[in-house]
Amino acid sequence: MTGAPVVLAKYSLGVGDRFAHQGKAQLAACMQAAERGVPVIPVWNKSNREHLIVGSQPSGTRAAADAAVRASGWTRSYYVDADHIKLDTVDRFLESSDFFTIDVAHAIGRPVAQDAAESFLRRHPELESDGAVAAASKYLLAVREAGQIYRHIAASKPPGTFITEVSMDETDSPQTPAELLLILAAIADEGVPIQTIAPKFTGRFNKGVDYVGDVAQFEREFAADLAAIASAIERYRLPANLKLSVHSGSDKFSLYAPMRRALRRAGAGVHLKTAGTTWLEELIGLAEAGPEGLALAKKIYAGAYDHLEELCSPYAAVIDIDPAKLPAPSEVLDWGAEQYAGAVRHDPANPDFNPQVRQLLHVGYKIAACMGATYTDMLRACEESVSRNVTENLFTRHIEPLFLG
Ligand SMILES: [Zn+2]
Repeated sequence: MTGAPVVLAKYSLGVGDRFAHQGKAQLAACMQAAERGVPVIPVWNKSNREHLIVGSQPSGTRAAADAAVRASGWTRSYYVDADHIKLDTVDRFLESSDFFTIDVAHAIGRPVAQDAAESFLRRHPELESDGAVAAASKYLLAVREAGQIYRHIAASKPPGTFITEVSMDETDSPQTPAELLLILAAIADEGVPIQTIAPKFTGRFNKGVDYVGDVAQFEREFAADLAAIASAIERYRLPANLKLSVHSGSDKFSLYAPMRRALRRAGAGVHLKTAGTTWLEELIGLAEAGPEGLALAKKIYAGAYDHLEELCSPYAAVIDIDPAKLPAPSEVLDWGAEQYAGAVRHDPANPDFNPQVRQLLHVGYKIAACMGATYTDMLRACEESVSRNVTENLFTRHIEPLFLG
């Protein structure tokens, strides 16, 4: 290995870019934060699921990130995240990624031998509590699998040359702060130098729309998670920069102020993953760019409307769409640019805002992917409008309230 080990900075932002065309516009938002004195490191994240749906390759994500950085003169670090990989999907990401989100949510609750949980707790008497045996039994196998995947990655990439995240967010029941501490102890036992961890928080993290749940309870839990992380760093000698990764599914606006307060109090950092928020800004940018862009944006809505079930099924756990509240494509055909943009843009104060339409389009990127060059050529033709919306959304709706507010 050459050089110092890669260490993720205090504040970082996962930027999803489904079609790999908005790297520069996304980076512009990070540059605005740096100008305000708060560096926010970009991490381009794209999951295997997204690559399969779009028909893209991890090497394309890397090429787009490198090109954006070169063109913008960005001199700080940046990373390419193999988002939500498992043992059977990690291989094609090995060359182009330097950040790996090891997803072991599916292994939570798989039975582990009774004596395994007991011997784990004998090694960790500090974790003893009423629910400790049950919690150890619930998470030990998932953590072992994380270790297995980590070692698989480390066999082809020297340790210290990539960032490791473990994610457990795509599951039904949230992890308590006490469970988080136990999970981190187990991760340390596995020898995984974890820098970010993504638990499942309380409440609903639906794609593209705001948080649904008890914000005050979230804030208490988030603060307790930060305390669990601080104590895990000390007790288990995990990397000092270990921090929470919040898989926001985009746009959890009501949580940004509570998160910011808790982070300030704890002096902690955070990694915020935004998923499809940029893709929705592409649609808004197209709609506002002129009649041709608007027509294409409407066509995408019509396609998504017609393929509702197919588009929603991979995301069933993270969307709540009431089909009865979706306007028919014939109705949308009569919309002007302002109404289309108003329906999609995440501004709940706008009477045109329609969270049903927004959620459907959030998962509707396959329709654009199927259009191939028709879609990406239009992105290029409407670049000014699209990139303006992409940058402004990331900066004013995400970076500013969470990191600068
Ligand atoms: Zn996630």
